[in-house]
Amino acid sequence: MNLGLSPQDAAFRDEVRAFLDSALTPKLRRAGTLMTSVYCDHDAQLEWQALLHRRGWAAPSWPTEHGGCDWSVIQRYIFTRERLLAGAPTSPLGINMVGPAIMRFGNDAQKAFFLPRMLTGEHFWCQGYSEPQAGSDLAALAMRAVRDGDDLVCTGTKIWTTHANVANWMFCLVRTTTGPRRQQGITFLLIDMDSPGIDVKPIVMSSGEWVQNQIFFDEVRVPLANIVGHIDDGWTVAKYLLEYERGGTAYAAELQVKLDAIRRNLAGDALLDDPLFTARLAETEIEVEVLDAMEAEILAALGDDRAIGADASMMKILGTELQQRVTELALDAAGPMARAYQPGVAVPGGPIVGYPIVLDDYCSGQPWQAIAPLRYLNERAGTIYAGANEIQRGILAKAELGL
Ligand SMILES: Cc1cc2nc3c(=O)[nH]c(=O)nc-3n(C[C@H](O)[C@H](O)[C@H](O)COP(=O)(O)OP(=O)(O)OC[C@H]3O[C@@H](n4cnc5c(N)ncnc54)[C@H](O)[C@@H]3O)c2cc1C
Repeated sequence: MNLGLSPQDAAFRDEVRAFLDSALTPKLRRAGTLMTSVYCDHDAQLEWQALLHRRGWAAPSWPTEHGGCDWSVIQRYIFTRERLLAGAPTSPLGINMVGPAIMRFGNDAQKAFFLPRMLTGEHFWCQGYSEPQAGSDLAALAMRAVRDGDDLVCTGTKIWTTHANVANWMFCLVRTTTGPRRQQGITFLLIDMDSPGIDVKPIVMSSGEWVQNQIFFDEVRVPLANIVGHIDDGWTVAKYLLEYERGGTAYAAELQVKLDAIRRNLAGDALLDDPLFTARLAETEIEVEVLDAMEAEILAALGDDRAIGADASMMKILGTELQQRVTELALDAAGPMARAYQPGVAVPGGPIVGYPIVLDDYCSGQPWQAIAPLRYLNERAGTIYAGANEIQRGILAKAELGL
């Protein structure tokens, strides 16, 4: 996007650049550049979050009263773009997901306890929505929570939970009442992952990474004080949060950085003389520009606390499909160089060897190996997580086309 920056925004960009320049150690840059999934390694995220917090920049979209930056849409865009260009790590998922939900639906005690710890990274969150029989049809979720004194006693399982292996808190949907309307009777609960009765089992992806998990809950006691919003009315909180998850992500800047890397570093002269390849590259670049403009509109709406409704679905579809397309281009451009380099992994889906993996186990240290093939493999999941794209198309058909 050609922002035509105002003098104030240009000064802000320079301030961000100066900060990134001084704060990013070679190790942190490496973690950001060689990132093979949506999030970079846990240790790097924590170190980065602590640095951002010290600078007062831990939560760009939060209001200042809760320790956020209250930046304008343009400032957030500038920050994201500069962060990506500099190869900085990602922030933990709690900041953009459960944070806004607690601010909107949480009580004062919850805000005072959880928000500051999210900013520092002391609390590292995972999202416990999906279950083996409840993914697209989330209202089918069956993990039971039965009231006993001042606690809810939770029994059941959650699956595909990103980062449950490193998280110390989970925001979770549990069933507190069974009735004819499945969306009623669901409660939004915050669970301490150190509670007795929780067992986390790894799910290894085709890229060889261990990021996803299945979690088993056996009579886990969670205080009633950890309910966000009202008991049995968690669907309202969940829907608000899903809008953030689908619409609050900025895909375009990252895609632009990757396309630039393909054009400048990955595709050799021969490929850039190939009209078929350059046509694909140009077409993708144009669509990323379109996405970029859409994101600016959606970010503005989120910033003003306006509902974005079905626009979130549109952006999720376009963003994840373009992510896949860009990594396909990268794979083609890298050719034989795009071999997997994963000495820490036996076979995808097979036994885990030597976890946790360190960066060098993912890549030989060359950025293209983070994009292709590992990011290529990881990105296959983009059209499934955060609500499968088929479901998003269904939402659009209903909301926009009235079908
Ligand atoms: C990498 C990854 C990370 C994830 N992280 C998390 C996480 O941190 N926390 C969490 O709670 N969940 C997470 N998930 C789970 C994710 O939200 C679900 O996988 C997703 O909602 C789809 O559910 P499902 O896997 O049960 O597939 P299903 O719902 O069984 O769908 C199977 C297929 O059928 C299609 N389909 C289903 N219903 C319809 C319909 N009505 N119309 C048209 N097509 C339909 C789907 O699009 C899909 O192609 C993650 C998933 C992945 C792959």
